[in-house]
Amino acid sequence: MPSPRTGGCLCGALRYETGGEPSFSLRCHCRDCQRQNGAASVAAIRMPAAQFHFTKGTPKRYVTKADSGNEIVRVFCGDCGTPIYVQVETKLDTVGVRVCTLDDPGFFKPDADIFMKSAQPWDTHDPSVPQYDTYPDGKAYPIGASS
Ligand SMILES: [Zn+2]
Ligand SMILES: [Zn+2]
Repeated sequence: MPSPRTGGCLCGALRYETGGEPSFSLRCHCRDCQRQNGAASVAAIRMPAAQFHFTKGTPKRYVTKADSGNEIVRVFCGDCGTPIYVQVETKLDTVGVRVCTLDDPGFFKPDADIFMKSAQPWDTHDPSVPQYDTYPDGKAYPIGASS
């Protein structure tokens, strides 16, 4: 794997590099990610924040509160709207990089599907990937069960 990996937004105003290796690979099905991305789920890798740098442009930030009450910063391109990463106030050493903004996203293999409580019924799921109703430190979500 190239390190750092590189990526950017749709319009090219933002470019970044993200060093180190993913500590966790996930697909998030929460409603906020669904809305921000206009998609049923978002593929993300948790990367060390200290090794993530914008090499071009200045992103915009949008702060929301999660179910947990924690603030979540969503960092995106103010010109084209591409979501680049998400950072939770309780885990400032980590950024959740949106995998499909990488120049080479093909390596991604999810460790888990998270926030399955708001997964869309028409989305498809790989039964070999563990599912959680919220975060992975929460309760595992039995495959096939409904919430
Ligand atoms: Zn852009
Ligand atoms: Zn989410």
